[in-house]
Amino acid sequence: MKIICIGRNYAKHAKELNNPLPKEPVFFFKPDTALLPKKQPFFIPNFSDDIHYEAEIVVRINRVGKNIQKKFAHKYYDEIGLGIDFTARDIQQSCKEKGLPWEKAKAFDGSAPVGQSFIPISEVKDLNNVNFKLLINGEQRQVGNTSDMVFSIDTIIEYISQFVTLKIGDLIFTGTPEGVGPVKINDHLEGFIENKKVLDLKIK
Ligand code: MG
Repeated sequence: MKIICIGRNYAKHAKELNNPLPKEPVFFFKPDTALLPKKQPFFIPNFSDDIHYEAEIVVRINRVGKNIQKKFAHKYYDEIGLGIDFTARDIQQSCKEKGLPWEKAKAFDGSAPVGQSFIPISEVKDLNNVNFKLLINGEQRQVGNTSDMVFSIDTIIEYISQFVTLKIGDLIFTGTPEGVGPVKINDHLEGFIENKKVLDLKIK
């Protein structure tokens, strides 16, 4: 499986990192080694002094597809969850300044934990109006709503599948709203979709 992440998909987040809003979706990959085994904590890697959390709605692909038209995109997933796109912000910044790819800052082991529970699309009233939030140590840090996405889930699927075949089990991280920031040892992250707790993660 592969993990495809969308960058700069919420206007206020693009702004907080001084990035321009993209005219078409920006995507990058994380390998399967970026997933965390269930119930395992996230260990802060020693190569960065500035690991940021980015809470994101995650879509799980359930059919193989290539060149998927937007109007059929909804047939290619049936669950959403919440994930953290951990980012070594210091390394990313230096890659950006040099015009280099971001992989070192984004694709490291354990950098893409996903929540314990996924929600069937059949239980979601309106996919383009889903509230989600991230608490750290009980304090609200990020609040998002999918209506604020620059590119909707179906637009993202149409766009990516022009270039890359989507396969069963692939995960798409759909971008983070504003409020990103660093994690530190012993932080406790809790993610919610609407009022349902879907992610619980300790930082070590
Ligand atoms: Mg992200």
